[in-house]
Amino acid sequence: MTAIDADAANRLAREIAGSVVGPGDDAYDQARRVFNGMIDRRPRLIARCVNEADVATAIAFARDHALAVAVRGGGHNVAGNAVVDGGLVIDLTRMRRVEVDPARRRARVQGGACWGDLDAATQAHGLATPGGIVSSTGVAGLTLGGGIGVLRGLHGLTCDNLAGAELVTASGDFVAASPDENADLLWGLRGGGGNFGVVTTFEFALHPLSGVVSGPLDYRYSREFLGFYDEFVDTIPDEFSCDLVLRRSQEGEPLATLLTCYCGEAGSAVRVYDLLRTRFSPLRDEAAPRSYVDAQRLYDQISPWGWRNYWKTNAMGGLGHSAITAVDEIFAAAASPLSQVQLEHLHGALHRSAPGSSALNFAGAKYNLLVNAKWTDPARDGDNVRWARDGFARMQPHLSGGAYPNYLFQETRERVRQAYGDETYDRLVALKDRYDPANFFRLNQNIPPSGS
Ligand SMILES: Cc1cc2nc3c(=O)[nH]c(=O)nc-3n(C[C@H](O)[C@H](O)[C@H](O)COP(=O)(O)OP(=O)(O)OC[C@H]3O[C@@H](n4cnc5c(N)ncnc54)[C@H](O)[C@@H]3O)c2cc1C
Repeated sequence: MTAIDADAANRLAREIAGSVVGPGDDAYDQARRVFNGMIDRRPRLIARCVNEADVATAIAFARDHALAVAVRGGGHNVAGNAVVDGGLVIDLTRMRRVEVDPARRRARVQGGACWGDLDAATQAHGLATPGGIVSSTGVAGLTLGGGIGVLRGLHGLTCDNLAGAELVTASGDFVAASPDENADLLWGLRGGGGNFGVVTTFEFALHPLSGVVSGPLDYRYSREFLGFYDEFVDTIPDEFSCDLVLRRSQEGEPLATLLTCYCGEAGSAVRVYDLLRTRFSPLRDEAAPRSYVDAQRLYDQISPWGWRNYWKTNAMGGLGHSAITAVDEIFAAAASPLSQVQLEHLHGALHRSAPGSSALNFAGAKYNLLVNAKWTDPARDGDNVRWARDGFARMQPHLSGGAYPNYLFQETRERVRQAYGDETYDRLVALKDRYDPANFFRLNQNIPPSGS
C-alpha cells in the first residue's frame, strides 16, 4: 500500500466498526476474489462494513476521495460488478443476519446474507421465499436483479416477494421502501439492480414449505429430447420447476440434464416424475425426497469459483424446429467441454404477477436462455467468448423481448435498455434521477441518470 493509501485506510478503519482491507494485507487477495475467474480487479480499499452506519461512512469516504464504488453481496455477479479497480468496495459479507417472524410470515435479511443463510433460517419455521439454486449466491444481487428459483411457479420471482427494504443512498440518507413508503423505489429494487443505493436490509414475504422432491436427471443428448422437453414443460404444475442444461460428461459425452424440483408432497410428485422416466430413460436419476435446505445445496459444486465465465442471455419463446436446430448447432460447436446451453422454464406465478409490479421483462417468454461459456485456460478466452457471442447471434430469430439483468455480462447502455424495455427503462431513469443523480452507484447494469 502506498503512503497515501495507508493514511486513507487508517482514517476509514478508525471511523467504521468493521475493518478495512487494502493491498499488502493478507486478506486482500481473498477479499477481492469473485466467482468469475475472468475478473481480476485491484480495489484501492475494501470496507468490510458491519452495520448501516459503516455503510454511510464508507459512502461519504468514497465521495470525499472521488473513489469509484462497488457493492459486494455474494460476489457471484458474472460481470464482476462486486469489485472495482482503484476504487472502494463496500463489502457486506459481514452483514448476514436473518430474523424470521413466523407469525407475520416475514424475514428481515441483512444485505450481505447468502441464500444458504436465509433458507436455513426460514426452514427452521417450515417457511421459504423463492431464492436461487446455489446456497452461496448473495441474497442482495439476486433479489435486486430478479431471482429465478425452484419456487417460481408457486410464488414468482424473488423480487416479487420483496416486501420492503432499507437502504443508504449516495447522499448518505437512510431510506425505507415498502408498499406504503417510497413505493416507487420498492418497484425499482424489484429488478432495477444496485442503482439506487446500498440495501442494508431486505424484508421478504414467506410461504409454508416442508419437504421437496428434487435432483438432476441426465439423459443422452438428442434433438428428440429437446422436442420432448419443450412439450413436457407445457404440462407441469406450478409446484414443479424443470430447467434444461446441455452439457458434457467428464468423458465428453453430450448430455441433456434436467434440474428438477417438486415443491409439494412427495406423493403428488410421482405423476410428473413418471413422465420423465418412461419416454426417455435417464442415464442418472437423483431426484428424491429431500429437505428444502439440502435441495438448495445440490448444485453448490457444479460451478466452482475461479473458472472463467462469459454469458449471453435473453428471454425466448418455445423450441420450434428451427430453434432446436440452432440450439443443436450451438451446443455442438462449444469451444470448451465445460460450457453449457441452459433453458430456465418460466411459468406459473412468475407470469401472474401484476403487469409493471417489477422492473423485469419476461412477459410472454417461455424460457430464459443462457449461453454459458466456461473454461479455465486464459489463452482460450478469445475462442470461448466468440463461441458465446456467435451462438447468441445464431439464436436471435428465436428470442423474445427482455433479458434477465442478473445474467448480463458487461453490456452497452443500449443492451441494458433493451433488456428492460423502453417503458421500464425510462421509469428506472426517473428513479435514478431522484435517488442517485450523480450516478455514484454505476458498477452494476447501469441506469445512467437523464442527461448523462
Ligand atoms: C453459481 C451461480 C449460481 C446462480 N444461480 C442463480 C439462480 O439460481 N437464480 C438466479 O436468478 N440467479 C442466479 N445466479 C445469478 C445471480 O443472481 C447474480 O450473479 C447476482 O448478481 C448475484 O448476486 P451476489 O450478491 O452474489 O453478487 P455480487 O457480485 O456481490 O453483487 C452483484 C451486484 O449486485 C449489487 N449489490 C449487491 N449487494 C448489494 C446491496 N446490498 N445493495 C445494493 N446493491 C447490491 C451490486 O450492483 C453488485 O455489483 C447465479 C450465479 C452464479 C454465479
